[in-house]
Amino acid sequence: PRPVVAVIGRPNVGKSTLVNRILGRREAVVEDVPGVTRDRVAYDAEWSGREFTLVDTGGWEVDATGIHLRVAEQAEIAVELADVVMFVVDATVGATDDDEAVVKLLRKSGKPVVLVANKVDDERTEADAASLWNLGLGQPWPVSALHGRGSGDALDALLEVL
Ligand code: GDP
Ligand code: MG
Repeated sequence: PRPVVAVIGRPNVGKSTLVNRILGRREAVVEDVPGVTRDRVAYDAEWSGREFTLVDTGGWEVDATGIHLRVAEQAEIAVELADVVMFVVDATVGATDDDEAVVKLLRKSGKPVVLVANKVDDERTEADAASLWNLGLGQPWPVSALHGRGSGDALDALLEVL
């Protein structure tokens, strides 16, 4: 069976944009309004001849209530089902308390993690990405899911742990 890669992170960090970048087509719903991907959505994906199932999730809001709690549950389930997790952080915002809480949950899960520092659209933002080394999840891969910058390197890193 294909290994399962779950894409998780706070709302609006660019998870669905990254999923579309990896798929090479616009299938995941991208929205300016946070939390639009309500449920887990699985896609058949491929990189360098390796096939895997890519799971897009809604935002993981650690202290959230209502609909967001359901979204958080979906993400938590996605991690449980995943063989590898792509944890997406918005490099232009930096790590928030919610991101830190996710790091703890990821550590507890013991799953291999590829840390994606997204929205690195240009060289100026590279330094913001580098500060995410502080999360203790290894190398933050600077990516612009919107423009494609760095996504190949992040995917190569994914294959290393897949
Ligand atoms: P999700 O909620 O994590 O799935 O985030 P989305 O993929 O829906 O994206 C949220 C917003 O961030 C949209 O307006 C995207 O166009 C924007 N976005 C996503 N990736 C990037 C990126 O690499 N750079 C920039 N500048 N914006 C991005
Ligand atoms: Mg989404």
